[in-house]
Amino acid sequence: MCGKTHFCLVMKKNNDWNGICESLPEFDQHNSVIYVYDKKTSLRGYIAFHRKGFKIPSFGATRFLKYKDDIDALKDALRLSKLMSYKNALAGLPYGGAKAVLIEPANGKYKKSVLLDEYAKHLERLKGAFITGTDMGLDLEDLKLMKQKTKNLVGLVNNPEKATAQGLFYSLLVVAKHLYSKKTLKDLSFAIQGVGKVGEELLSLVYPFASKIYVSEINIKTLKKVKAKYPNIVTVDFKRIHSQKVDIFCPCAIPNILNSKTVNQIKAKAIVGSANNQLRSTETGDTLHKFGILYCPDYVVNAGGLIAVADEYQNRKPGGLKLEEKVKSIGDRLDKILTLSKKKNKAPIHIANEMAQKIFAN
Ligand code: NAD
Repeated sequence: MCGKTHFCLVMKKNNDWNGICESLPEFDQHNSVIYVYDKKTSLRGYIAFHRKGFKIPSFGATRFLKYKDDIDALKDALRLSKLMSYKNALAGLPYGGAKAVLIEPANGKYKKSVLLDEYAKHLERLKGAFITGTDMGLDLEDLKLMKQKTKNLVGLVNNPEKATAQGLFYSLLVVAKHLYSKKTLKDLSFAIQGVGKVGEELLSLVYPFASKIYVSEINIKTLKKVKAKYPNIVTVDFKRIHSQKVDIFCPCAIPNILNSKTVNQIKAKAIVGSANNQLRSTETGDTLHKFGILYCPDYVVNAGGLIAVADEYQNRKPGGLKLEEKVKSIGDRLDKILTLSKKKNKAPIHIANEMAQKIFAN
């Protein structure tokens, strides 16, 4: 068990649990981490709460993926919940940041529906402290199934993937303005890594304007489907997508795609994508800045999904801003960050982090 609020559904028997958690560089004073476990269904995973604990709801989607080991999964949960705190803060939302990662059993001996049914029961026991939806490996059908056991789900009414892609689109417009003083995406070229839920939505938005779109996707079935729907795209090997000579690289799949190795291979003039934790470290952000590549902080530009599900959670109180206007405000925020970055000659990631930390301090 770790964190300040000692709360765990199932504790590891290991007495070093506290030590393990706190020694991880990703720990960052997390409020709590819950180990979710059920032997019968093979359910195993972590729910990490970054800042506000259980006093107010914390938002973060649930990921269902294969991990190298437990520590790898725990690190992912910690990294992502921290990012969710920053995302909530800059999106002007009053919620805490959290994230759940469920470990897909490596032996394949599990039934996803049974495992998720058990997970939903765990969620219900948290009494609304954690509100979740779909991330990588889960879809709307999974949510509908879980809905039978818990109320603490979002993404059943509003479509977070569409809103995320819309937020990226508004961010791309801001980038077009900063790079070329253009008001549209006409004649710009793109490289999209991953055409899953968000990546395909984004593709559909830029397709009518782009001069060229390169796409990579590790799932061959998905790639074939997308190529049939958008015949003008050029498919490239997933190991080469980040190094395409394009105006904008859009990472919409894996974390850490911007690292000490890839950073020297990037030929794009800007980076705008949905993937969480794109930077291996803030130093990579500094290098991109030094190279004159506009890196648009992931948690700023990909907040559309969070804004959409928060709206759903609040049941869209009459009189407030319409969802589309709220998503559009992502562009205004990015504009401010990029303008300040230029003025202060400081990487955009630092500007965004400072803005979020200022909000935390109040
Ligand atoms: P998804 O699982 O639907 O799509 C990811 C796609 O990337 C899949 O098709 C997968 O096959 C592909 N992929 C995986 N590794 C790849 C690689 N190395 N190269 C190329 N393709 C690869 O997930 P999603 O919901 O579209 O989310 C994509 C990313 O955006 C994730 O990092 C997620 O955390 C982040 N994100 C999603 C949302 C949302 O609304 N769903 C919101 C904010 C951030």
